[in-house]
Parts: sequence; C-alpha cells; structure tokens
Amino acid sequence: MPSSSKLGTIPVRLNPNRHTALNTVDFIPERNILMPSSKGYAAQSAESPLVPHAFSRRDPGATELTIDILFCGVCHSDLHMARNEWGNAPYPFVPGHEIVGRVSAVGHAVTKFKAGDIAAVGVIIDSCRHCLPCGRGEEHFCAEGATLTYAAKDRVDGSMTMGGYSNNYVVDERFAHTVPANLDLAAVAPLLCAGITTYSPLRHWGAGPGKKVGIVGLGGLGHMALKFAHSFGAHVVQFTTNARKREDAIKLGADEVVVSTDPTQMNAHKASFDFILDCVSAPHKLDDYLPLLKQDSTLALVGLPPEPPSFAPFNLIGGRKSIAGSMIGGMPETQAMLDYCGEHNIVSEVEVIPIQQINVAFERMLKQDVKYRFVIDMSSLA
Ligand SMILES: [Zn+2]
Ligand SMILES: [Zn+2]
Repeated sequence: MPSSSKLGTIPVRLNPNRHTALNTVDFIPERNILMPSSKGYAAQSAESPLVPHAFSRRDPGATELTIDILFCGVCHSDLHMARNEWGNAPYPFVPGHEIVGRVSAVGHAVTKFKAGDIAAVGVIIDSCRHCLPCGRGEEHFCAEGATLTYAAKDRVDGSMTMGGYSNNYVVDERFAHTVPANLDLAAVAPLLCAGITTYSPLRHWGAGPGKKVGIVGLGGLGHMALKFAHSFGAHVVQFTTNARKREDAIKLGADEVVVSTDPTQMNAHKASFDFILDCVSAPHKLDDYLPLLKQDSTLALVGLPPEPPSFAPFNLIGGRKSIAGSMIGGMPETQAMLDYCGEHNIVSEVEVIPIQQINVAFERMLKQDVKYRFVIDMSSLA
C-alpha cells in the first residue's frame, strides 16, 4: 500500500470510448493505477474460506447504473463455484447473484432508473443482444453465451465480473429490474435466482387451476416453487425426504405432502401428475418420480446435482413422458415475476446474516440448516 501522501482523489473517466459518467476513485499518478472502488468477500481457492477483498468496478456507461447493494442472497451456485465444484472457478472472485440495492448513479441514456431508486440484479448481467433468443427477451439462452454476474469475462472491458457479496455493482439497465415498493427488500433478493428459476418452468409448463403439480425438495428453490405453484392455482403436492417439513410445507401452500422415502405414499400418486418440478441439488433417483407422471407429462429439473442423474428408459417410454430442464429466465420474464410477486405479496423466506458469517452460512447450507435462504445484509460490510 503506498503512503497516503501519494494518493490523490480525482475524477477520472475509466473508459473514455464508452462512458459519459464520471466516478471518483483514488488514483496513484506515478504508478498510473486506480485504487479499488469496491469491496466485498471473495473466494481465493477451492479450499479456503471467503475473505475480505478490494477491487475496482468501472464507472457506469450511458445506459448503465451503479447500485449500492443493500442485500444479496446466498445461492447454492455460489458455494459450488467458490469450491470449484464445476471445475472452472477463476480465483479470486466475489460470488453473489441475488442482488437488491439502491441506485447511486445513472448514465445519461438510462430511462428505467434514477438515483435513489431500488434496483435488482440476478444471475446474468449482459448478452450479445442481437441473436434470436436475445431478440425474444430470452437473454439467458443467448446464442453467444450470456455474461454471468460473477466469475465471467465482462463484455465491456474484459475484466472479471465480481458478484453481489460486495458494496456495489455496475450494470446495464436492460439487466436490472425494478422492485415493487410493497415488498421486504431482504426477502426480495432470492427472487432474482431462486424465484425466477422456479417461476419460469411453472409458467412454461402451465401450472395452474385444474393441474396437479409436484415439487421435489423443500429448500431454497423448492420453497419458492411451492409458493408460486400454489399462487398460480394448481393442486400442489410437496415431496420431501423429511417428514418434519410437513407442517412448513402446508403453511407455504402445499395441498398434500408426500414423504418420498415411503413407497406406499408414493404409489398412491401413480400416474396422476401433470407436471413435476425437481428442485433438488443432492443426488436422488428420478425413477422414483417418473411413474407418478400422467401420460405425455414432464418432469423438469432445475437443481444441479454434482453427479449426472440416471433413469430407466422404461419409465419414460411407457406413457411418452419427458425429462426436461430449465434455467433462470429472460429479462422480461424476470421483471414479470417481480411484478407478480408485488401484486400477490410473494417473497422468499429468509435468514438475514452479516457478511462476516458467510463461511458459517455455507456450512449450514450443506446441512440444509436454513429456512429457506440466507441473505447477506450488506450494511455489515462497512
Ligand atoms: Zn443462483
Ligand atoms: Zn444473444
């Protein structure tokens, strides 16, 4: 660290070709480097805990905004990536893709937000914007690959994207969402990943009145799936391995609860489901659920078990059944989900923690010891 006498705080244009707004950052003239303008908690290796980390973000371009982060949800993907369980973690990086905060600066062409507004950011923060899926508002299926909120190469300056376990974020307004004023902001954060991940497939496969819908797993994803399916008017059956979750499941909207390890309970639902949403990230047997689907019905996966699941083809061909998958949602659908949550007063069940407890929270998540999502209160970072 240079002595403070060498530091000057000056306004600088970080990217003169693109940006119009100015940021104030610490600049060391003789070394021609910018001092970090952001701080958060970063994963440094697969084995080490998350630790405080300072880094730089660019200033907002014409269509971009800076968000001072208030809350960030803790997603299972954060833990997978921090521990390099998918084998591609670029250390060091700051996790977090369930972001809610207050807009502190906007570029001159921003129309959706002004300083002081609440804004939310989810799993992706950019895409090519010209391919077929992007044109349809399905940026998450961008043909050139969407840019993830953390641990990805930024399309603007090639830097590593750093996530929401931090004090601020810079994002294009296309990838930021407005938040209904009536919702609790800490409990909104998980909607940006767990919420849209379950809302989108339930909409796509038509969960609604007259439909019998199964939800497998009652965790971060499952409890949101349960709330949405119930709200959409479906008859909802919650599957769980833990009989003690029955009361909670009923409270969250389940019409029935089935303990999936009990063959008698499972057989009672044979060939009766219009749709099953599988929200489990731990290893489990798809063959337990396929016989429960009606003819021509679908079991969709949204969880990411470490090992590829296997199934007996016989369970699919009899009844022409499908196993499908779904991943988050596009920007218009994510906004529609948030607006729907505002109209129907739906938020996540959360346990709010200071960022200093993030490593403990990771361990507790592995033991499923959370009801049902940890959310970091970013004021603890100060
Ligand atoms: Zn996530
Ligand atoms: Zn695209």
